[in-house]
Amino acid sequence: MVGLRVLVPPYRSGMSLMAVQRDYYETLGVEQTSSAEEIKRAYRKAAATHHPDRNPGDEAAVERFKQAAEAFDVLGDHEKKSMYDRYGHEAFTARNGGRAGFNDVGDIMSAFGDLFEGFFGGNTARGGAGRVTRGSSLRCELALELREAATGCTKSVEITRSELCPTCDGSKAKPGSTPERCTYCSGRGQVVQAQGFFRIQATCPACRGAGQVIRDKCPRCLGTGRENKSVNLEVKVPAGVDNGMQLCLRGEGEPGESGGPRGDLYCDIHISEHSFFERHEHDLVCRVPISFSQASLGTAFDIPLIDGKHRLEIPAGTQPGDTIRLKGMGMPDPHSRRRGDLLVQVLVEVPRKLTPRLEELLRELAEIEKKNVSAHRKSFLEKLKEYFAPPEPAPEE
Ligand SMILES: [Zn+2]
Ligand SMILES: [Zn+2]
Repeated sequence: MVGLRVLVPPYRSGMSLMAVQRDYYETLGVEQTSSAEEIKRAYRKAAATHHPDRNPGDEAAVERFKQAAEAFDVLGDHEKKSMYDRYGHEAFTARNGGRAGFNDVGDIMSAFGDLFEGFFGGNTARGGAGRVTRGSSLRCELALELREAATGCTKSVEITRSELCPTCDGSKAKPGSTPERCTYCSGRGQVVQAQGFFRIQATCPACRGAGQVIRDKCPRCLGTGRENKSVNLEVKVPAGVDNGMQLCLRGEGEPGESGGPRGDLYCDIHISEHSFFERHEHDLVCRVPISFSQASLGTAFDIPLIDGKHRLEIPAGTQPGDTIRLKGMGMPDPHSRRRGDLLVQVLVEVPRKLTPRLEELLRELAEIEKKNVSAHRKSFLEKLKEYFAPPEPAPEE
């Protein structure tokens, strides 16, 4: 038989039909004179037609798919092709160094993945058993007081995240048992699927990309490899953070697959409103009420700062709505650490009630200023009050 096969390729007659091994040219439907590009195209077409995913359960298709790959392995390589042209299949017997042996679809994809990549634009040669993937990132909320945002602080946050199961250490398999290589994808975790003439790499449906199948599942996590755990984390908050900012805690997300790195934890900053200070980016604004006399004569008193207190000097003749800027007493910039300003807005309050002495003084003032003021209202109001006052209720028996 061996001798017979030697004769086949150079003559490429009908003899190949009776040969044990099919002629590579025939397998791909090309000629000895076909260009490298034509051979490549023919192989892609054959691979697309015979791909096992497209012919589920069809053993013959798998065989044809393998044959096409084998043929392309030779005809797609200039040196191997010329050997084949001269010696036929004999050129690739074990004695001569052998030829490409493809055990399964995955092998073929590994060998010719690049070819499909260029053609379909997908990432076909990657994947495989125990694919290492990065874990998911998580988000949490971080509530702060304005003072904490101003000075920086360390806060504790409680989050629930999945951790590797302590029994199986995330392997999903019962301790002592070993996961089996997925036969569907030969442990690659990926399969090539044909959609029409186009072929895309997809996650293996049998093992969901893990490349292995676990027969004995871990009893603790029921084969998930994970369990939810509540964890307390310390978050270092830099001074000057603001609403809408996020702090990222690298590597505090969920663990990755197959020992992959953890995702991150993003903390959304929420700063509660302050009773005295209003924030305008790096500046703080507050309103301070003073009396007419204080505004007129000037004064000084302590006002609270976000971190301490400050003696505020109000010059004589301060007008209602005047703003006093206190440099560097605002919020720090988290990047430059430079501080904004504190803007003190002065409100001049008019007394709602006057003592008789105050009224006397103010009337005197009006006289000096030659200002027309309302008549003494107290008696008038009292009269009014008496007029409308309900009769005293009779004491109950
Ligand atoms: Zn487990
Ligand atoms: Zn698989």
